[in-house]
Amino acid sequence: MTLLLTLDDGSIQRSLAEAVETARAAAVEETDPAQVGAHAGVEREDAVSATHLFEAEVPGYRGWHWSVTVATAGPGEPVTVSEVVLRPGPDARVAPKWVPWERRVRPGDLGVGDIFPTDSDDPRLAPAYLASDDPAVEEVARDVGLGRVHVLSRYGREDAASRWRAGEFGPRSDMARSAPDVCGTCGFFLPVAGSMRGAFGVCANDISPADGHAVNVEYGCGAHSEIEVEVSSSIPVAELVYDDSLLDMEPVEELERASEPAARA
Ligand code: SF4
Repeated sequence: MTLLLTLDDGSIQRSLAEAVETARAAAVEETDPAQVGAHAGVEREDAVSATHLFEAEVPGYRGWHWSVTVATAGPGEPVTVSEVVLRPGPDARVAPKWVPWERRVRPGDLGVGDIFPTDSDDPRLAPAYLASDDPAVEEVARDVGLGRVHVLSRYGREDAASRWRAGEFGPRSDMARSAPDVCGTCGFFLPVAGSMRGAFGVCANDISPADGHAVNVEYGCGAHSEIEVEVSSSIPVAELVYDDSLLDMEPVEELERASEPAARA
């Protein structure tokens, strides 16, 4: 039987492709006939089935197709309808991809009184009883005997470091690029503890927009502690300045003519 179907595959597909009206009738049975538009093509499913597509003239479903799958038992056998469904075409407007609720919350969404539990398998955290691979954390945990339930994992630290570095208080911000010097050399820079000590600290200058924020050592602002402004008293000043914009100008010739009679007399 399989061999027969393979040999007659061409004629079977032809009869499936020709079953446009059978497919249209099936689609019309499912909906208002006015909602079944022009035939938009036929797709081969397998050796004995194919799918006819019709434009869907359904309000709100622009770019969708009525998809009617037809099948046959073999050469010369009748073509029957397997299913009729409405399917989005390549240009169809479809709903955005489903995003789990916990991934929809964006930074800044958390309001006063909101609760946002951390996933039990959050890769940014590691149980504190495990080696944290942060020497400073391990040292403190040993001293205290008991640490916190969780500490930042290596992934969590790297994630925070890349976010902070790329953020408002990183070296690529507008403020940093126009700053006279970097935080790493500023007296207001308080380095953080642990493995991020070499890269981040907290700004403690109330004049700075970064006051109280984690800043990268390569960030900087105009309130850097070592900035000095040159004050000079040797600004050249002109002895006398005339404002000639309001003077009445008299042509020289007229003056000469006016003084001539007096000179002759
Ligand atoms: S005052 Fe400016 S340069 Fe100094 S630590 Fe704060 S942000 Fe950095």
